Amino acid sequence: MRIVVTGAAGFIGSHLCDALLGRGHGVVGLDNLLTGNLENIAHLRGRDFDFIRHDVTRYIDIDGPVDFVLHWASPASPIDYLELPIQTLKVGSLGTHNALGLALAKRAGFMLASTSEVYGDPLEHPQKETYWGNVNPIGPRGVYDEAKRFAEAITLAYHRRHGINTKIVRIFNTYGPRMRLRDGRAVPAFMSQALHNEDVTVFGDGTQTRSFCYVTDLVDGVLRLLEADTNDPVNIGNPHEVTIEEIARTIVRLVGSTSHIVYRPLPVDDPRQRRPDITRARTLLKWEPSVDLEEGLLKTVDYFKGKVG
Ligand code: UDP
Repeated sequence: MRIVVTGAAGFIGSHLCDALLGRGHGVVGLDNLLTGNLENIAHLRGRDFDFIRHDVTRYIDIDGPVDFVLHWASPASPIDYLELPIQTLKVGSLGTHNALGLALAKRAGFMLASTSEVYGDPLEHPQKETYWGNVNPIGPRGVYDEAKRFAEAITLAYHRRHGINTKIVRIFNTYGPRMRLRDGRAVPAFMSQALHNEDVTVFGDGTQTRSFCYVTDLVDGVLRLLEADTNDPVNIGNPHEVTIEEIARTIVRLVGSTSHIVYRPLPVDDPRQRRPDITRARTLLKWEPSVDLEEGLLKTVDYFKGKVG
């Protein structure tokens, strides 16, 4: 297939390009490099990969046939969307509209990278795809959460109205090489601090939970969904739930750091708990994650070691 990936120079986007090329597909990668980085795709030179620097909130024009559009472009870390609130709303709304328009024009399939943030600060635990969520539309995270909720709605509208074969993957916390050291998310923040023997900043009392999935497991789930016979949203994430304090301590230990844990104020609307119910992915995709947390963290530490000076 010839597949368009928006956000191709991002963390997950670039891993997705690797996996698609590895399966013999051709890839056209789009990115405006707002939070993406060309270094993530530099190794793809010479492969069946074309890169177009483009902001997908503007009309997307691609020559030739396209079989699938994977819409991955968006700022995705809380500090990014606090700094880039308008861009975050625009890429989720206008960007998704344009990416769907491309899929319609090319009679291609479409997949939306959605997020566990559609569940907000969840009142149901673990989160099933049937849960409608508990999102504050006017809080600082609302720009991301509501953009993605809109993106899901317009994706289903294009499916119902135009018959496009659409997929929605709800991605839970994912980590691995090519995350930005300073993107503010827990895993890179703790690794950067631990590698520098600086204080490790746990927000709140550290009892809030997340469930971290290694990036290759996530990509494997996404590729299975691409071929699956469903248009319903599917959670992809690792159901192994840990507290933030626990992951901070694990990272300090794995790095062999002398860092101490310090406690900082909890950001507004920070979800209390998060864990995917992956029954649907298990049943429909025969998928489940296989990389254990410590194994994945060690691979990620190796990558970050090469990044800190
Ligand atoms: N967090 C933290 N210290 C940091 C960065 C994040 O304690 O330096 C906490 C954050 O408050 C949240 C959790 O780690 O409870 C996961 O945050 P992240 O930004 O990685 O992703 P989120 O799941 O909130 O989108």
